[in-house]
Amino acid sequence: MLELKRIYWTRVALRAAYFAATIWLAAAVVLSLLPNATAATLSQRSTSPSDVLRGMFDGVMAAVTLPGLVILALVVTVLIIRSRDVRRRDPLRRFTRQQRREGMARAGGQCEMEAGFRRRCSRPAEHGDHFYPWSKGGSTSLQNFVAACSRCNRAKGAQIPSPAQQQRLERRRLSYVLSDDAVRVGERREFP
Ligand SMILES: [Zn+2]
Repeated sequence: MLELKRIYWTRVALRAAYFAATIWLAAAVVLSLLPNATAATLSQRSTSPSDVLRGMFDGVMAAVTLPGLVILALVVTVLIIRSRDVRRRDPLRRFTRQQRREGMARAGGQCEMEAGFRRRCSRPAEHGDHFYPWSKGGSTSLQNFVAACSRCNRAKGAQIPSPAQQQRLERRRLSYVLSDDAVRVGERREFP
């Protein structure tokens, strides 16, 4: 079973942490350059221009060390996650004819994605889409197949769906899918 919750919220948290660390870094630079800090360095040392510059440089370096290290750690984490996604990729990206036929029949030929007001899109389905994106390790399986119109297919892109979207799609499927097994959506490949 896909642990969409953990995956989704980990990535949301990483984005938020990266955003916060960037603001921290910018604020640290600005604060270290404020007149007070410069005046303090001036009074401590002789007033030659190179000393002033060196003092400012040292001040900025000291201020950015910690936020810089945090940003570095976040970037490394993201790179590790990305390389694991790539290793997880299904060697087959395209759904087979059989999968398309079954997936389209399951959807009754109608797009299964969400239009406004969390209702099911009413346009005819044209594409078989990976609900959990192929590029992020989604399986090319019937469970991960959603029927989509061109517009929804384009709008979705390679974003990881939220757990709430998954839940709503499964709930909507209860009304048009006959077998209980086929209601479930989203499958991620096992780590090879
Ligand atoms: Zn649609």
